[in-house]
Amino acid sequence: MISKNITCTVPKANFLPERIERLNDLAYNLWWSWNPEAVTVFSKINPVLWDSVSHNPVAFLQQVSRSMLNQVSNDKQYLILFDQTIEAFDAYMNKKETWFMQKYPNIKDKTITYLSFEFGLHESIPAYAGGLGILAGDHLKESSDMGLPLVAIGFIYNQGYFVQKITEDGWQETSNFYLDYKKLPMIPLQDEKGKDVLIAVQLPGREIKARVWQINVGRIPLYLLDTTVNENTPYDQQLTAKLYTSDLETRISQEILLGVGGVRLMRLLGYNPAVWHMNEGHSAFLSIERCLELVKQGKTFDEAAEIVRKGNVFTTHTPVPAGNDRFPVWLVEKYFHQIWPELGLTHDQFINLAKEESSYGDQFTMPILALRLSDHCNAVSELHGMVSRDMWHFLWPDRKVADVPITHITNGVHSFSWLSRRMGILFDRYLGTEWRENPDNPEIWEKVDLIPDAEIWAVKRHQKRKMARFINDRARAQWLTGTVHPVQTLAAGVLLDSDALTIGFARRFPTYKRGYLILHDYERLLRLINNVDTPVQILFSGKAHPADEPGKLIVQQLYRAIKDHRSGGRLVFIEDYNMEIARYLVQGVDVWLNTPRRPNEASGTSGMKSAMNGGLNFSILDGWWHEGYNGKNGWSIGSEKQYDSTEKQDAEDALSLYEILEERIVPLYYSNRSDANIPTGWMMKVKNAIRTLSPQFCTRRMVSDYVRNMYIPAIEER
Ligand SMILES: *Cc1c(COP(=O)(O)O)cnc(C)c1O
Repeated sequence: MISKNITCTVPKANFLPERIERLNDLAYNLWWSWNPEAVTVFSKINPVLWDSVSHNPVAFLQQVSRSMLNQVSNDKQYLILFDQTIEAFDAYMNKKETWFMQKYPNIKDKTITYLSFEFGLHESIPAYAGGLGILAGDHLKESSDMGLPLVAIGFIYNQGYFVQKITEDGWQETSNFYLDYKKLPMIPLQDEKGKDVLIAVQLPGREIKARVWQINVGRIPLYLLDTTVNENTPYDQQLTAKLYTSDLETRISQEILLGVGGVRLMRLLGYNPAVWHMNEGHSAFLSIERCLELVKQGKTFDEAAEIVRKGNVFTTHTPVPAGNDRFPVWLVEKYFHQIWPELGLTHDQFINLAKEESSYGDQFTMPILALRLSDHCNAVSELHGMVSRDMWHFLWPDRKVADVPITHITNGVHSFSWLSRRMGILFDRYLGTEWRENPDNPEIWEKVDLIPDAEIWAVKRHQKRKMARFINDRARAQWLTGTVHPVQTLAAGVLLDSDALTIGFARRFPTYKRGYLILHDYERLLRLINNVDTPVQILFSGKAHPADEPGKLIVQQLYRAIKDHRSGGRLVFIEDYNMEIARYLVQGVDVWLNTPRRPNEASGTSGMKSAMNGGLNFSILDGWWHEGYNGKNGWSIGSEKQYDSTEKQDAEDALSLYEILEERIVPLYYSNRSDANIPTGWMMKVKNAIRTLSPQFCTRRMVSDYVRNMYIPAIEER
């Protein structure tokens, strides 16, 4: 914290024995979540409770019995582990020679503020819907590892995204829940008198307030805004209840709170950020607030905009025009009519900052606002860069498409959050622990070839069995509730076979991801999965947005196939996809399937998580896979041509999908087995995948790119 008047005191668990009191510090910093030893420090105390609180250490410490705590505080073995972990934690938090300090010793005091609608940090903090949020969470974890002077702003949604339940007929239902803030690692920001710190923004006819919670992500503070305070009307308290509501008034109010409120929060806490990084356009109103600050200091709007642009970084994630966040002009007028005169602008000048003409009336489009007021803009993969320059070309009509100022930085994943513990240990043995310091160094990864097939195979088999047990346990727990039909328990995976070739398909279910593609020729699929000698099973998981009827129909179509007795229990749907399920799947499956309608997948990241865990990607050459695939480290589906008919595209892609599965993937897995029954050809591909993809698609490479190509130029331009 910069401001001296504001405190952020970790709530104390009241009965921890003194010797292990610092368990509380671990519980209130997400560092534990990407350090397997720290996980053991909690789980060893009471493994059953650890699982039953969904690996949430704050809830765990509230519920664990005093006698068990006393017991471990006298257990020599435990105390060794405890002391080592605390030492590692302190060393991490106090490290001076970080990547950033070494590279940029002169610019350490410049703050980078990162704003996002969603953050996926851990399954116990449901502030995410999908890939965008996971990316933001991984960005923070990596920034912490690298020692970036970064702070982040987002929301805590007290009703999260939603809980998914599938009815017997395959229809997705949503059930609500309320978060218990006391069970989250959130620390309230308070003033000297112990009162909650509040920020305020104007909405039509009223001012609304938000309190601020801090979550520590290693060294990075994440500030979460929350309107459930008495100062607000009950209606306004609902403003931060849910992520991605379809109600436009709520949506614009949330975006004003994040953008305008985000700037005010930074001022209140005493930060003077040099860089403002908008993860998607949801926070783009921050530029309006920053221009207003400068206009009030005597600048003209144009001068102000010039300054604001220099420090702004904007990352776009949406290659589909319809997917962009936009508001009808009348709504923006309602919320901003007092602002444009203050900025010295006319109505038209203000609306033109983000105006997009469309057949259903003029729109105020948030990515346009962000693009117009940022000097540093990027898409999230090479292909997405091309698509974005084309899509936004109309904003720069005088330029050639190639000169539209949107570059790309391909996404990555935080290796330590997604890699299985055992695979990490295997890498330590054959690559040396250097890979942990420099996960993006391809030379270190060359040594993957030294790992004996049998060892990778053993880890994979272990992870696959672990995944099967996890899925079985969930199915059993659901059956035990007495609320589901037996066929739903079957669909939940009780017939899983740990020896069968296992394919995973897990992600959100918008139509462009074509979750239905594998069903295109259902009879052919049945023949494939039910072959007695070479069985195949496919695990599905994912949520459709509650307002996305076509998405829910895809889930239903899949679920009906899964329930069909002819699929023999080899198709499975795991309800309520979250980061925990994602971890088990990316670590356990043999093949990671992705079938987006090209070129609609901006990047995709789940395949990267699977690759470093020894899974083989089988995907359309879209998003990151267009860069990652080299002919030897997985498989591609379909061709890179452009289609004008979606039916034709689906038919051709499906055909390619079946052919490659039947002729290449299944045979490679089941034939050419060594004496020890290991598929040697398969293992060659697995090693190629780990070696080539791990260094290229990790967040270390991604965040270095952001620092070098966006943050440092933004700081230096100022
Ligand atoms: C990684 C991840 C995603 C992103 O999946 P894509 O296939 O990249 O769309 C979504 N949800 C969860 C829970 C994830 O862990």
